[in-house]
Amino acid sequence: MESTIEQKKKPISEVWAKRPLIISGPCSAETETQVLETAIRLAATGKVDMMRAGIWKPRTRPGNFEGIGTKGLPWLQKAKEISGLPLTVEVATGKQVEDALHFGVDVLWIGARTTVNPFSVQEVADALRGVDVPVLIKNPINPDLELWIGAVERVAKAGIKNIGLIHRGFSSYGNTEYRNAPMWHLAIEMKRRHPDMMMINDPSHISGRRDILQDVAQKAIDLDFDGLIIESHIDPDNAWSDAKQQITPERLGEMLGSIIWRKEDIDSEELHANMEKMRQQINQLDDELMQILSQRMKVADKIGQYKKDNNITILQTNRWNAILERAFAKGEKLGLSKEFITKYFDAVHMESISHQNKVMNS
Ligand code: PEP
Ligand code: MN
Repeated sequence: MESTIEQKKKPISEVWAKRPLIISGPCSAETETQVLETAIRLAATGKVDMMRAGIWKPRTRPGNFEGIGTKGLPWLQKAKEISGLPLTVEVATGKQVEDALHFGVDVLWIGARTTVNPFSVQEVADALRGVDVPVLIKNPINPDLELWIGAVERVAKAGIKNIGLIHRGFSSYGNTEYRNAPMWHLAIEMKRRHPDMMMINDPSHISGRRDILQDVAQKAIDLDFDGLIIESHIDPDNAWSDAKQQITPERLGEMLGSIIWRKEDIDSEELHANMEKMRQQINQLDDELMQILSQRMKVADKIGQYKKDNNITILQTNRWNAILERAFAKGEKLGLSKEFITKYFDAVHMESISHQNKVMNS
């Protein structure tokens, strides 16, 4: 456990480099008392590195609480003084960047509704020119990696050296399990493209509710994320925004205590040797799978030729349904999920169709 005094001494570069990096605080700053009490209770957990609070809140529908505005910034400044926790605030305009920096906000974050809009991202980037402040960039609300990458590029071009990513899930119509579908594969692809950029996970906005918060957080840690940003509130049920997904600082402390923190690697030769053997096996099996797939496509080509000669269509729905039914039944016995079988056969089928298309039209 670190003391508040020690935290007070830490320069922001040191906090930024800490792993796992834990950020917490209310969805919105509401009152001075709420902000100060949250800061004290978060610091008391000894598990939080930085405090978050929304000052300007982009809400999807009007009429919801849209943030306390600039008048909340001095409250945050005071919270930092008494707790030692550095601050992060969401910014969406040039003026907001200016105000946040004026009141000593340590890290800025760009929200999901801003990342989608290149005009807004550019305005924020322009306001950042010549400023040395770390910036976190949330994924856009829609599953479009290019927009996320574009925002990173705009901020980097403005001269910002410390850029981090926040994966907060993607909105989709009618999704009931999550408020924002995690689509983990997109976060993983983003990590692959920016291997040196830290990526933290926001289980609060993915879950939208408390009961699955810890599972989502654990999943992120299992996937080697660099940290978590989790919303907390002194009285969650009565929060002015995102009440359903917030937890008390004490509950947050418990939750962080029961998460299993995994390392990317450990220093053990035996483990490395065993892993290496199994990875060789996987490589071997992948090679064989590809050989077999290639053979399968050659048979599809022959069928294509046959269809061409006899002037029949490529797609035969009955045949396709029969293949799928057979595969589900077999897959179940082999421990392969229906979801995987569907995706796999869709991909194989599309490749077969494209092969036969070439045969038919050559
Ligand atoms: C938030 O962090 O409170 C917020 C508005 O998040 P997002 O931009 O991910 O919706
Ligand atoms: Mn929120």
